Amino acid sequence: CGIVGYIGKRDVAPLLLEGLQRLEYRGYDSAGIAIHAKGTGKAAGGLKTAKAKGRVRELESRLPKRFAGTAGIAHTRWATHGAPTDENAHPHVDTEGKVAVVHNGIIDNADELRAKLTADGVEFVSETDTEVLAHLIGRSQAPTLEEQVREALRVIEGTYGIAVLHADFPERIVVARNGSPVVLGIGEKEMFVSSDVAALVSHTRQVVTLDDGEMATLKADDYRTYTTEGSHTSAQPTTVEWEA
Ligand code: GLU
Repeated sequence: CGIVGYIGKRDVAPLLLEGLQRLEYRGYDSAGIAIHAKGTGKAAGGLKTAKAKGRVRELESRLPKRFAGTAGIAHTRWATHGAPTDENAHPHVDTEGKVAVVHNGIIDNADELRAKLTADGVEFVSETDTEVLAHLIGRSQAPTLEEQVREALRVIEGTYGIAVLHADFPERIVVARNGSPVVLGIGEKEMFVSSDVAALVSHTRQVVTLDDGEMATLKADDYRTYTTEGSHTSAQPTTVEWEA
């Protein structure tokens, strides 16, 4: 239903919760968040996730004490595959917990992909169509996150707006769109993404609206757009007018 993401220098959890609250008017049944956990040395890296059936306030009350980071993604869900439960709330992660995915839309061939992955030994923890994406990306052998996502998207059929975090690529968020809106918000040494410009305008008026078949990589100080086949696109930012 709703996606927000951020990468920059600020503490990400409060920003994402605020973004989710701006999407509340759309309606949803559960919410969740994944971040790149801050830390150095042994405590470095890794994803942390929290999710909850119900309101954003419920999610907020469940955030672990240590939930600091400067990159993350979050979601409000309107269930299509699987009941509104904690487990079915996004983000969905792969078996190793290295990949986190938020998804709007419907994967039409999810049952078939789930059966294949299950036959390969993958254990699913949710009933969602989205979880297949997390496993497909997590199992890809491709060297870059962009290629891993592209490989996964090649086998799925259906609609999506997605945002992806990977523990091994902490400096980026990869997003893609096919039939479900994805808008980038271009900031000053920080980047935002949302399914709805309403979640961006309090931070920036410079936005890039992805087309169907388009992907983007967001880094704190840079973004680039390209097609799901990998060729560069030159989507230019436009300034949104917005009555606060
Ligand atoms: N199909 C996904 C699910 O049921 C995403 C629903 C949505 O767009 O919120 O979890």
